[in-house]
Amino acid sequence: MKLILIGIQGSGKSTQGNLLSQQLGISYLSSGHIFRDMAREKTPLGRYIKETMNAGFLIPDDKTLEIVEEYLKKSEYKNGYILDGFPRTVAQAKKFANGITAVFYIKVSDKEALWRLAGRDEEGVREDNTLKALMKRISEFHIKTKPVIEFYREKGNLYEIDGEKDVNVINREILQKLGK
Ligand code: AMP
Repeated sequence: MKLILIGIQGSGKSTQGNLLSQQLGISYLSSGHIFRDMAREKTPLGRYIKETMNAGFLIPDDKTLEIVEEYLKKSEYKNGYILDGFPRTVAQAKKFANGITAVFYIKVSDKEALWRLAGRDEEGVREDNTLKALMKRISEFHIKTKPVIEFYREKGNLYEIDGEKDVNVINREILQKLGK
């Protein structure tokens, strides 16, 4: 099974991704996580990724595709995967035609996402979570990722989920759509 989770930062897609990974026994992969790891490398590429992420911009499509596809060659993804944060542009989605089972758009309002992230920020978990970067990331989502949702909707495998409901309710809704 190959699943894609789409949603703005703070939509709860990593929470759902990790839950589904345990329930379905499928590996979870977050492109943001890969890039955060790479941003720690003291190489020109590592520094470039760090600067791009910290400003809230997207990593260019060719680089992103190359890196994610390389990761997906690992044996743990052989039987399927749950992707969080990828594809994020129509160009990525078009080039990544990999027999996707279902795409879940976990929808929360910008206001709700900012509210949740403001709470999370106090823990200081992410260096790239300045308000300016968050606003940029939200605007990148509306401009570049919303068309990805329409792309999959046209393909007929998109499910829109109300991300403002309780975590367990959302989880049950996703499982139900998957016939579980
Ligand atoms: P996330 O953890 O999904 O919010 O991703 C954090 C950051 O990683 C984003 O703001 C981008 O800079 C970068 N990133 C993650 N996934 C992608 C992607 N599919 N395409 C381009 N950039 C990405």
